[in-house]
Formats: sequence, C-alpha cells, structure tokens
Amino acid sequence: MSECILEGRGLTRRYRRPDGRILTACQQIDLRLYPGETLGIVGESGCGKSTLLRMLSQLERPDEGQLLFRGEDVTGWKGENLRRHRRHIQMVFQDPAAAFFPRMRVWDAVTEPLRNYSSCSRGELREKAKQLLEMVELPQEFLDRYPHSMSGGQRQRLGIARALALEPEVLLCDEATSALDVSTQDQLVELLVELQRQRELAILFVCHDLALVQSLSHRIMVMYLGVVVESLPSSCLAKDALHPYAKALLESVFSLHDNHERLIVPLCGEVPSPIDRPAGCPFHTRCSHCTELCRTRMPQMTAVGPEHWVACHRYSD
Ligand code: ADP
Ligand code: MG
Repeated sequence: MSECILEGRGLTRRYRRPDGRILTACQQIDLRLYPGETLGIVGESGCGKSTLLRMLSQLERPDEGQLLFRGEDVTGWKGENLRRHRRHIQMVFQDPAAAFFPRMRVWDAVTEPLRNYSSCSRGELREKAKQLLEMVELPQEFLDRYPHSMSGGQRQRLGIARALALEPEVLLCDEATSALDVSTQDQLVELLVELQRQRELAILFVCHDLALVQSLSHRIMVMYLGVVVESLPSSCLAKDALHPYAKALLESVFSLHDNHERLIVPLCGEVPSPIDRPAGCPFHTRCSHCTELCRTRMPQMTAVGPEHWVACHRYSD
C-alpha cells in the first residue's frame, strides 16, 4: 500500500461542561488514511464522529494524541504553517447552504478558497469556476445564480466543488449526503467515487447510515460513545464483523433491505452519557454478552485478521 497520508494516534477530545463535569467526545482514536481510499466512519448520533473530523481538519486541537500528515507531526502547528497546511485537508458538511454567504454568486462562492490562497484575477477566477462546475457536472449557467436558488443536491455538488478548489489530498465528508433523498445521495456518491479515481483523493466519509457508508468505503470504522469498537475492510463487514454493536447495526440494515423474516438482535437501551461514561466496555450497558470483566475493564483493540481489529472481551465466543 502507498504512503499513509493522514494518521491520527490516540486522538482524544474532552469538553468541560458549564457544571464543571467533563464530557469525553473522542477517546484514544487511532486511524490511518491512504491516497485513493475511502474510510467510512459509522455510529449513532453523538458518538463523536464530527469531533473526530474537526480534529483531523485542525479546526480543533486534540487534548491528547498526535496528528500526522505524510508522516510529519502537525499536531501543534499554528499561524502561517497551519494556514498553509489546511489547504491539503478540506471538509464537506451536511448543510452546504450554511457554508455559503447568501449574497455570493455561485462563481464567487466556489472560488472563495482560491482567493484565500492565491492572487488570481477576476477573469482567472471565473475560468476556474467554470472548470469546477464542470467537474461536479453542474451546468455553466449556474455561474451567476445564487446558491440558495439551487436544489439541495446541486448545492452539495457546489460544496464538493469548493472543497476541491484547492486540490486537497484529503476530503472529509461529514454527513455530506444525509439531508438528501436516496437517488440524489446515490448520484453524489457516484460523483465522489469518480473524483477519487481521477485524483487519488483520500476520502473520510462519515455517516450514520451503514448501508450507504458500506456502498462507497474500502474500510469501515465503527464508533460507539467516543471510541472505535471495530475496524475492518468493507467487503468483509457483513460476514466477519465481530463486535456486538457492529452486528446489531448490520442486523438493522439487513432487516430493512432484505425484508426477510429473520431474528433481529435489537439495540435496546439508551446510549450512556459521554459525561459519565461507564467504566469498562462502553457498550456493556446494552450488550447481551456482558460479563464482570466487561463492566470493569475497557477492551483494547485486538488484531483478529488482515486489516481487522476489534475491541471486545467476548469477540471469540
Ligand atoms: P456525532 O457527530 O457523532 O453526532 P459529535 O462529535 O457531534 O457526535 O458529539 C460527540 C459528543 O460531544 C456529544 O455528546 C456532543 O454533545 C459533545 N460535543 C460536541 N461538540 C461539543 C462542544 N463544542 N462543546 C461541548 N460538547 C460538545
Ligand atoms: Mg455529527
């Protein structure tokens, strides 16, 4: 495999609440991202996905851990170094409308990052805007429109075009397609796959929809309550997933898609609060295989196959 482009080691982020208590949004997260690959991150709302992406894009600093770009430690970077580094890693958010100034026209909005990093003339910017629209298959007549006059799917194409304006190596998509209907989602996923193929782009695709994540990811990381509980190749997910939480997510997907009469292991119970995280395995309060060990000791990530790790005391049962 080629050189790892983005690596997180032990990334941890805590927030102090107004009452003084500490909320742990992400705890000891390790990940590696390679050029041309899509890593999917899946987990219920509140499990720390967005916090992880904000650390990877350096919008927030981890309390513990390291961030490496092409093997270089960039964790503590500030000022001009950080500003220049940021262009390599770009984000696409769920609601692109919020990311555009309402009075900016499309050509202006899509080339905004270029103005921040280079001194292009108006004519050059318009030319670049045309190329960017073409790249995401939007018609040229959109150039002088306002983003709010476009459909959600078109605006998200614009969001992708803007994120790619600086030709980043890494694209972080945070629920980027979640607000769209299924056929628009599929078209955007196709577009991302095509752009990735052309540019060797590394994509981190975060979504709460396991079926969608699986459809475009090479590897999948399953998060629960701020930690990664399992990481494996996407193609092995259905048959090889070992963590009870990953299996429960899969069961719920297949029960919807196959509509077969089959025994579904329901995910019962509430997710515990990240403020008073349970001791031991974070999933033990909802797990039917829980033992005394699970209640008291946090399971470590264990290699169980090629590119396959799981954090569960009971995975072999
Ligand atoms: P996800 O994206 O998986 O839904 P988030 O990363 O947004 O999860 O949030 C993880 C946890 O961290 C949640 O409990 C959330 O309330 C908390 N959180 C996120 N950002 C902040 C913040 N800026 N201040 C305090 N708590 C936060
Ligand atoms: Mg989120």
